[in-house]
Amino acid sequence: MANGIGDSLLNRRSLLAGLAATAATAVAAGSAALPRSAVKSWDISTDVLIAGSGAAGICAAMEARKKGAQVLLIESLARFGGSSSMSGGVVYAGGGTALQKSLNVSDSVEQMYLFLSQAGAIHPPLDKIQLYCEESAAHFDWLVAQGIPYSEKLTQAKGLPMGDESLYFSGTELAWPARDMATPAPRGHVPGVPGMNGGRRLMEALLTNADALGVRLRAGVRADRLITESDGRIAGAMVTVDGEQLAIRVRRGIVLACGGFIQNREMLRQYAPQLFDCSVPWGNADDQGVGINMGIGVGAAALQMNQGFAIAPIYPPESVLSGIVVNASGQRFVSEDSYHGVLGDAIAYHQQGRAWLITDQHSSYDFHQDNFLPVAEGNGIGEIAVQLELPRGALQNTVAYYNLHAANGEDPLFRKSLSYLRPLQGPPYKAWDLSVKNAFFPAHTFGGLHTTIDGEVLNSFGEIIPGLYSAGRNTAGIPTAPYIASGLSVGDCTFFGRRAGGAAAAGHRS
Ligand SMILES: Cc1cc2nc3c(=O)[nH]c(=O)nc-3n(C[C@H](O)[C@H](O)[C@H](O)COP(=O)(O)OP(=O)(O)OC[C@H]3O[C@@H](n4cnc5c(N)ncnc54)[C@H](O)[C@@H]3O)c2cc1C
Repeated sequence: MANGIGDSLLNRRSLLAGLAATAATAVAAGSAALPRSAVKSWDISTDVLIAGSGAAGICAAMEARKKGAQVLLIESLARFGGSSSMSGGVVYAGGGTALQKSLNVSDSVEQMYLFLSQAGAIHPPLDKIQLYCEESAAHFDWLVAQGIPYSEKLTQAKGLPMGDESLYFSGTELAWPARDMATPAPRGHVPGVPGMNGGRRLMEALLTNADALGVRLRAGVRADRLITESDGRIAGAMVTVDGEQLAIRVRRGIVLACGGFIQNREMLRQYAPQLFDCSVPWGNADDQGVGINMGIGVGAAALQMNQGFAIAPIYPPESVLSGIVVNASGQRFVSEDSYHGVLGDAIAYHQQGRAWLITDQHSSYDFHQDNFLPVAEGNGIGEIAVQLELPRGALQNTVAYYNLHAANGEDPLFRKSLSYLRPLQGPPYKAWDLSVKNAFFPAHTFGGLHTTIDGEVLNSFGEIIPGLYSAGRNTAGIPTAPYIASGLSVGDCTFFGRRAGGAAAAGHRS
């Protein structure tokens, strides 16, 4: 594929070749907007410009092209695909998808909506959630039509399938309190390829199809700042190619799909300090927040900027879930069988980033793993408490209370699922460090531009900024903290990316 994954860096001459070109305009790079009057002439023109080649950008480009627009997609790095290519490729879908039906899984739009609207953050974006649920089955059909391979296999095991199963419980549906809010259903749809290769497979299919549709894909081109007309309409963008600045004129709209900002330390410190110390920034190198800042530079509102996916992947193996997780006061604070994002959120956002998993002889990791290191070991719970320097007697009381009720099949505090509930007994006891700094504790951001369900970017007065669209982690979308299920991010990117591209091709509604 001429412009597919692995396309080489582009120089200025090759960008201009085949694209309408006039004289270049030299201006300094930055995120603040440039007035149209400062642009002497345009180097390139296009109907729709997309910045970013991840799931959101590619889906936007495809939809804009299908609507008949001339589409130029630029990617700052040498390779296409962004974090989306690195991902597991899980898409959260439900309400009776073709795959759910073929596997006799019962689900409904209403139950999916209840889960997404109640089990996570307070005041989530209900308009987006509603539409996402209503059109989820049709969106999955669209993914299948792109040639993404899904196998008719379901697994009940917790965690991303490493085999070729394509449907699983990807979130916290079965843990309390979520299971009391909505009827649980498996909604994690993952390409049926072994290993952590789903994202690569998904993006290969989308990039191939975008190329075939006639989207002009250009790597090594960085969007720097937007250009505005005197009435506020977006006229184009300044980009950098090979160290040179070019002015791109956009006739219908520009879609910012540059991803989040987990690689930008200063933005993390400023907006999402709870993610600052998480040990692994989960995202591609250009998750620098440039697209978000470009939007802010023309007056866009940014929402959910403190929120993100903080991940404590303690399972598999599921056997460790019979242990308990405690904080620096020696107390439990969450159901241990919660999804990784719910546990991670509880630690990063609500326990100052510190926690330990306490196991007995049956719940201990029984193979070498270095995600979570053992930091205390003893024949009694008291020994563990001393080594962890917990308040006197606290951990012993926690374990005694937990054991008393677990013996009767009850967990009055957090209602851990019966599959994992039993008293903690039998040395050696061990404590595993779950702190955000020392453990394998990946994170990425959820904050971004405020958009309508069609990807139109809004300012802080709720007004549409004409000609500006955005999607994916460049926006504040369906993923909020706590993150309640894998697949909500790529699902949001593909679904709302398509809508943003379609709206940009249609042009501004007045
Ligand atoms: C290891 C891993 C596993 C994951 N697994 C899953 C999963 O299974 N399911 C799920 O829902 N989520 C998953 N996620 C999260 C998910 O991958 C991302 O949130 C999502 O892919 C973001 O997509 P996007 O299109 O918004 O951004 P990206 O895919 O990151 O694409 C943005 C692109 O824009 C480019 N760019 C940045 N700045 C500029 C600029 N100024 N000009 C031009 N281009 C620019 C970037 O280089 C990048 O290529 C995972 C993440 C990781 C790291």
